[in-house]
Amino acid sequence: MEKELKIGIVGCGAIGKDHCRRLINNIAGCTVVAVSDYVAEAADETAKLYGIKSYGNDCDGMIKDPDVEAVVITSIDPTHHDYVMKTLAEEKWCFCEKPLSQNAKDCEEIMAREQEIGKKLVQVGFMRRYDTGYAEMKRIISSGEIGKPLLIKAAHRNVSQGPGFKTENGITNVAIHELDICRWLLDDEYEDGQVVKVRQTSNTTEYDNPQVVLLRTKNGCFIDVEIQCADGYGYDIQCEVVCENGTVKLPDPYAVVRRSRPDPNKLPGESMPIMVDWKDRFIDAYDIEFNDWVEAVHEGKLRGPSSWDGYVACVAGDALNESRGSSEFKKIDTIEKPDMYK
Ligand code: NAP
Repeated sequence: MEKELKIGIVGCGAIGKDHCRRLINNIAGCTVVAVSDYVAEAADETAKLYGIKSYGNDCDGMIKDPDVEAVVITSIDPTHHDYVMKTLAEEKWCFCEKPLSQNAKDCEEIMAREQEIGKKLVQVGFMRRYDTGYAEMKRIISSGEIGKPLLIKAAHRNVSQGPGFKTENGITNVAIHELDICRWLLDDEYEDGQVVKVRQTSNTTEYDNPQVVLLRTKNGCFIDVEIQCADGYGYDIQCEVVCENGTVKLPDPYAVVRRSRPDPNKLPGESMPIMVDWKDRFIDAYDIEFNDWVEAVHEGKLRGPSSWDGYVACVAGDALNESRGSSEFKKIDTIEKPDMYK
């Protein structure tokens, strides 16, 4: 039996707690040995649940603990870059939730450090690549069975956001998933992009909502993504890729369609449940993602979404945020891909 990978978690909020449960209960070959959070009580509470060590708010101390072999970063977005760099300073394995950083420049620093070490140590939490629906779409597109891809029509709709959410976070925090999955599905890179402000919903007034993201790829594909950060009804992820001789569409999650006698005060004649919690929508993908990461760490070579992938998404995000209000497509220019990520 292989030695278990000993993991420390930074950030015990919604996804931090969920990943802690997942890593301890569902994933073979690893265990969580310590947790930490900006708010000491959040770490203490999570640690108590599993009888593991709490570092309270000493996140840096936890990263340095020789007993911690790998760090999972699930704190808020603006803290990711700093914790990744601290993990790399210890030359430890790092799983960082999306986004890798708030901007492309910070990601370049992370890649430079990995190259100095001479090894890919960082994986980014783009879990959609592990979703069976997206994976089957990619298989069909790559097979060429229905011709080359031409267009993507996608939607990312969320129920609500926490306090302090800003218009640009619609790109850096929400659309970042599409910025990764679209280039992965198409096996193509972005040429340019722009954000368009459309008629606004009354669900929120603090930030632009919805926003529409338009992207063009090097091979000439056109992508449009509707981003709703507060849609008033559910967590709804849609994606259709139009190819020359057919289309592929992301299936809805498992949901039984109910048909019964219509009752105006209760259910309509036909209905199906809508998910409201993002944790449920990709629940299997998160498990597959961590199984693959732990296995890859044991093999000594990461194969999941890398710092490069985190970087490209941030380059596109920077260009989109820069384009807001200009009615112009902005170039999405990356540095040359370092050999390590080829
Ligand atoms: P959350 O519930 O707000 O949890 C974040 C936690 O980090 C909170 O406990 C927060 O404490 C703590 N924190 C804040 N500043 C910190 C610091 N400097 N050092 C350490 N901990 C700090 O947010 P969440 O929904 O779990 O999201 C966490 C991260 O996961 C985000 O980056 C998000 O983008 C990502 N995420 C990814 C997915 C996905 O589908 N892959 C889904 C959800 C979230 P306070 O409560 O005091 O702020």
